[in-house]
Amino acid sequence: MATDADRHATGQSIEADAVIIGAGPAGLFQVFELGLLGIKSHLVDTLKHPGGQCAELYPDKPIYDIPALPVCGAQELVDRLMQQIKPFHPEFHFGQEVAMLSRRDDGRFDLGTSAGTRFIARAVVIAAGLGSFQPRRLGVEGGEAFEGRQIHYRVKSAADFHGQRLVIFGGGDSALDWALDLQGKAGSVVLVHRRAEFRAAPASVARMKELVSAGRMKFVEGTVAALRTAGDRLAGVTLKRSDGSTQDLDADHLLAFFGLHPKLGPIAEWGFALDKKAIAVDTAKFQTSVPGIFAIGDINTYPGKKKLILSGFHEAALAAFAIAEWLNPAKKVHLQYTTTSPIMQKRLGVNE
Ligand SMILES: Cc1cc2nc3c(=O)[nH]c(=O)nc-3n(C[C@H](O)[C@H](O)[C@H](O)COP(=O)(O)OP(=O)(O)OC[C@H]3O[C@@H](n4cnc5c(N)ncnc54)[C@H](O)[C@@H]3O)c2cc1C
Repeated sequence: MATDADRHATGQSIEADAVIIGAGPAGLFQVFELGLLGIKSHLVDTLKHPGGQCAELYPDKPIYDIPALPVCGAQELVDRLMQQIKPFHPEFHFGQEVAMLSRRDDGRFDLGTSAGTRFIARAVVIAAGLGSFQPRRLGVEGGEAFEGRQIHYRVKSAADFHGQRLVIFGGGDSALDWALDLQGKAGSVVLVHRRAEFRAAPASVARMKELVSAGRMKFVEGTVAALRTAGDRLAGVTLKRSDGSTQDLDADHLLAFFGLHPKLGPIAEWGFALDKKAIAVDTAKFQTSVPGIFAIGDINTYPGKKKLILSGFHEAALAAFAIAEWLNPAKKVHLQYTTTSPIMQKRLGVNE
């Protein structure tokens, strides 16, 4: 099967019946409901993994209001949804944000992602939650100009940092893992965190402390106060230490790992009527003001909307029926039960 990279190389678009933007619980269950009706889905998410808020913001927390599951861990819910949609073989396109969505003259939709993947879709489901998960920025004046060149929020190629003077910000697993990985390969590594307690795995923290004691890397308790520049290059940073003093550090690159937070992002520019950053839909089809584009889960709004996982599941079921009719207007879609429908059982792989 062609990968996204193969398709980029040939400039090929993926022709799809349904593209779902967002692989949170609503987007995942949309795959299931469409699959029961014989419709295959492509799912795109900025995150590198499924689960949206459940996986990114509270994976270890228990959820108590999923029907028939008195208690279910948030990551467990995502794992169960992934298992449930397996028979429908959705195609996942992770680590890419849908940046462009527009209607074509032939009534289908063009979608383009930040990684260059292009789709021509007959129906689109926006299941984008509170928005696309983006790295929290360093929050220092003038920082944007250096993003991607000398200020980084992810590591694309570790080799780019070999021999370089690095200042790494953060106290979670990403910051510690990269500090430990790059120590010894980079020219120098300074870890900066606003306090002496870390969220990262205790073993990583212990190893970092050993390396600091051995003089192989440095740790500063503090935050960034300002950038130091030389012409159009970043020359280093001024830190504000937790004792109130300041410290200048020379650096070739700054790496910041402050976690991710959802940001509405490109959806705001697609021309939908937004009410408090949510897209208005009808409650029969969960269709937006653009026929063929549907919105489910936290991203939508209608009278009485409640931003609950349960609501997203219900909306996915009704949207699936509407999408089936949209794709095939001449064919009436009858309600069938999974308990008794041979065709649904065949699609589920339980009657073969
Ligand atoms: C701490 C906490 C506890 C909660 N507890 C409960 C609970 O007990 N019960 C309950 O029912 N609800 C709970 N919720 C709310 C619940 O998590 C949300 O209602 C649910 O996650 C919404 O699902 P969703 O699929 O609509 O959106 P999300 O989970 O937000 O997923 C949306 C996905 O879309 C992606 N995306 C957005 N824009 C783009 C784009 N342009 N391109 C590509 N990808 C994009 C995002 O990266 C994200 O992964 C809780 C929320 C929090 C924060």
